[in-house]
Amino acid sequence: MSAAEAGIFVVGASLAGLRGAEALRRQGYAGPLTLVGDEPHLPYDRPPLSKHVLSGELDADGTALPHLVALDAQWRLGSKAVGLDRVAKRLRLASGDELAYDRLLIATGAQARPWPATDGPLPSGIHTLRGRDDAAALRSALAVGPNRVLIIGGGLIGCEAASSCRDLGLPVTVADPNPTPLARVLGSSIGAVITERMQAAGVDFRAGTQVEGFEADAAGRVCKARFAKGGEIETNLVIVALGATRDTAWLEAAGLMADETGLACDGACRALDARGRPAPGIYAAGDVARTPIPLYGGRSLAFEHWGNATAQAGHAARNMLAAEDDQREYHHLPSFWSSQFGVNIKCVGLAEGADTVAVVQGSRAAHRFLAVYGREGRTIAAVSFDEARWLPAYAERIEAGAAFPPILGATDQSIKDTGPPGFPEPRSR
Ligand SMILES: Cc1cc2nc3c(=O)[nH]c(=O)nc-3n(C[C@H](O)[C@H](O)[C@H](O)COP(=O)(O)OP(=O)(O)OC[C@H]3O[C@@H](n4cnc5c(N)ncnc54)[C@H](O)[C@@H]3O)c2cc1C
Repeated sequence: MSAAEAGIFVVGASLAGLRGAEALRRQGYAGPLTLVGDEPHLPYDRPPLSKHVLSGELDADGTALPHLVALDAQWRLGSKAVGLDRVAKRLRLASGDELAYDRLLIATGAQARPWPATDGPLPSGIHTLRGRDDAAALRSALAVGPNRVLIIGGGLIGCEAASSCRDLGLPVTVADPNPTPLARVLGSSIGAVITERMQAAGVDFRAGTQVEGFEADAAGRVCKARFAKGGEIETNLVIVALGATRDTAWLEAAGLMADETGLACDGACRALDARGRPAPGIYAAGDVARTPIPLYGGRSLAFEHWGNATAQAGHAARNMLAAEDDQREYHHLPSFWSSQFGVNIKCVGLAEGADTVAVVQGSRAAHRFLAVYGREGRTIAAVSFDEARWLPAYAERIEAGAAFPPILGATDQSIKDTGPPGFPEPRSR
């Protein structure tokens, strides 16, 4: 079969892969379409995994993503792509099969960052959470009633998992090297509100605490964790929530600009080769893609946000079908939501790097507020805790590059609480 007859291949059959394939069909692509995914499941939604699935309100297999368009596609599920030959236009699968493609959409997302390699095997009872099978395994382990759950990392997934564990009435400790949870995402000034919510919910939050290693019982199951600064804690269930690494290992020999921070793309979502030139016919979208974002000075950024995966997949699909001289730049205002400890958090823009944060509505003390982040006199992000009414207005101001703080004089807004946001130093590794 010639590459042209082979049609478009989408590698990574999850949110970005599915929405990208649907966008291709919606925009008139009628040729052959194949989705290759290493998981055995049809695309499913990840946000409920750390929330409703862990707390037992939803089964892991109840998270299937709706199909919005009749795809008429071939599905190669349970098939890991292990190599890409761009010259021959062939994709190699772990089974040994080689498949000819014409154009490629890479949507292989990210994986949970594992616990760093140790000399011996890790004890059992240590989990990560990225996929549906991880969530099902963790849910079963929680249902047994561990004596204490230790969560390593107070980022979004660590906090949501802690909240779900408390909903189940389980004793929970969260250990994080930063002064508060969500310090890297929102800064410790806002993160302090999450510390209060955690403590009110009965979570033992250990700030400035790094876990160094584990001890196992006679059956090889984790029974203790040791802290780097001394001391230990008894636990028989650990959730390692150390963030994610992009799934680009399979592209190692493909001559593309790819590493664990993502597959570098140009503004049109075209993958870049090792010399920084767009690779013909290869596009990327979702968590795996690192693209220059005009709103943030053209910085090449990869997001781990649901909204970006859907929007970027649609954009990449559009450009895949467009002529060479009609490639449009991807403009994106990052946003995410989270629900934890009874609070709905919504964030627009990138707060990281802000020099000031101002509460413009509600109050941190009431745990219900809208806060706006500024950097060098410009509004760059806003976050709401159960107070999202004005968020779209701030999103517009962020996109417009408005001065900080914007929207002064609105009837129900005033700045009562302003100061440094308290972001930790960038990670050394
Ligand atoms: C537990 C959890 C909770 C979340 N909650 C929120 C939330 O509340 N709000 C929010 O905005 N975002 C949330 N997110 C983030 C959001 O789910 C992701 O941004 C989104 O799933 C990204 O979609 P994707 O398709 O780019 O990548 P992924 O969903 O990671 O999918 C990539 C797919 O490609 C497959 N794959 C990888 N390598 C290969 C290969 N070599 N060959 C074939 N297939 C491969 C993977 O197995 C996977 O199925 C959450 C994520 C997780 C894990």
